Amino acid sequence: MIQKGVLLVVSGFSGAGKGTVVKKIMSDYDNYSLSISMTTRSPREGEVDGREYFFVTKEKFEEAIDNDELLEHACYVSNYYGTPRKYVEQQLESGKDVILEIETNGALQIKKKFPEAILIFVTPPSAEVLHGRLAGRGTETAEVIAERMKKANEEALLMQKYDYILVNDELNKCVENLNTIISVAHQNPKNNEAFIETIKKELEVYK
Ligand code: ADP
Ligand code: 5GP
Repeated sequence: MIQKGVLLVVSGFSGAGKGTVVKKIMSDYDNYSLSISMTTRSPREGEVDGREYFFVTKEKFEEAIDNDELLEHACYVSNYYGTPRKYVEQQLESGKDVILEIETNGALQIKKKFPEAILIFVTPPSAEVLHGRLAGRGTETAEVIAERMKKANEEALLMQKYDYILVNDELNKCVENLNTIISVAHQNPKNNEAFIETIKKELEVYK
């Protein structure tokens, strides 16, 4: 029997280490599939269409919304971002655990549609460490770093709505903790409906 996969949503402050954690869990374990989002923003240097994102025009994005091709979508810094439905549904059906790395609005839309989804908020151990990571990454100007630190205040207001707060201090430990959370989620009755139906039927013989 194939058990349906777990839908895992990862959000967190910019610079918290979401990308790093997701990349490592994808390479350390083989039961995860990473959803590739659609966006209207332009590719950054080194980004490839269909690998980091599906880069589309605003018209194409709006067509996808109209055709109900997205599981959720949100506007972030003047651009649209959304999760293509088909891939996620196929992977979950085939038993893969699917990771969505998305911002907080989209995460809360997913929780409404899929109450069994697991929402994880990745945070560094302190604001000072967050600032240090953003600066250390070297991809943003001091002005953009200040904006992101300010935005983190808004994002922190939504932390309570998540199922788990994942502190990304020591990377290996953080990835191990994330994998443990998912392992436990597999034991949830909501993720075992097919099994429950099967064993109920088997038990009927003994009624
Ligand atoms: P996000 O995707 O959340 O914006 P990144 O994955 O780009 O964050 O990480 C931000 C910076 O912090 C990167 O330079 C990354 O190498 C570093 N980093 C991530 N996780 C850790 C960690 N556990 N310890 C130290 N540095 C980390
Ligand atoms: P970036 O432009 O830096 O790649 O991403 C900006 C923000 O958009 C990040 O917080 C990222 O997690 C989020 N994001 C990426 N894809 C999606 C998506 O499909 N839906 C939503 N709601 N947010 C997304």
